[in-house]
Amino acid sequence: MAKISATPRTARRRRRANAVWLLPNRPHCFLRLLATIPQISRYRRGLVAVPPSFRPTLPTSEERKSAIQPQTPSPIRDNEVETTSRQEAEEPQDPDAEGEAVAGKYWAHRHSLFSLYDRGVRMDAEGWYSATPEAIAAAQAARAAPAGLVVDAFAGVGGNSIQFAARGCYVVAVEIDPHKVELARHNARIYGVEDMIEFVVGDFFRLAPYLKADLVFLSPPWGGPSYNQTPMYTLDMLMPKDGYTTFQAAQKIAPNVIMFLPWNVDRSQVEELCWLSSPPLDFESEENYIQNRFKGITACFGNLAR
Ligand code: ADP
Repeated sequence: MAKISATPRTARRRRRANAVWLLPNRPHCFLRLLATIPQISRYRRGLVAVPPSFRPTLPTSEERKSAIQPQTPSPIRDNEVETTSRQEAEEPQDPDAEGEAVAGKYWAHRHSLFSLYDRGVRMDAEGWYSATPEAIAAAQAARAAPAGLVVDAFAGVGGNSIQFAARGCYVVAVEIDPHKVELARHNARIYGVEDMIEFVVGDFFRLAPYLKADLVFLSPPWGGPSYNQTPMYTLDMLMPKDGYTTFQAAQKIAPNVIMFLPWNVDRSQVEELCWLSSPPLDFESEENYIQNRFKGITACFGNLAR
């Protein structure tokens, strides 16, 4: 009898021993990420496991400085990033010329959106006006605890996800547009943080009930550049759902929420969001400027409030 029960115990131990090496330094984060995968996998393509000992290669200050100087395209840059999709393979030979044509007046700001733009960062037309400027994204990411799990709910072309990953967080980047996910993945590779980010093609509101994390970052669509014309931007102008609904979806995922909102948003409405919880969440907001231009407000809820 003893022998019969010994066999399954040994097999169980072996299975456990095999599983242990999968766990990274922060097993709680990894396990929560794993818990989301069965639902996520229905929406995403090509699951990439987070390697346990990954350390992101952050651009050095030298690299950032040199990226700010406009550079002529070099053969190295074109070969640097492996082309992985048909879409990318069909890109024109000169991505700078294409970028300039699509970007129009936003072209001048390319290095403030992505300091490594000249390494081959790619954006679609929407990305040019909607990507969070890198300095702002870095300041927002600095609020997160390194090695925490972050859900970037409206990831776009990846600017915020990249900065959270560069901070050392594991990121689930949710984006409804598959082409943007391709661009975001490509951009994350340029920044050396692709393996820290789990890209998910899907509707944040449908995925939200299946996600758990330490922090949710919300930069929902502001409704295009026309938000600038409104004297007072209200939370019901956010897309695809109003700010209250979006915030509540995020709250079910994590105790901490960061929202990036237009400069002209009604701040009393934003502050009221903390009363959607009982007891009310701590709240702090920060004004974000780019080259002396008031760009937006970062609202922090929960333990992130300083
Ligand atoms: P705006 O320029 O108006 O601020 P954005 O381009 O910043 O809009 O929108 C952010 C991103 O959110 C876009 O890339 C868009 O595809 C994405 N998005 C919109 N709705 C959803 C959704 N339900 N789930 C996930 N991503 C979404």
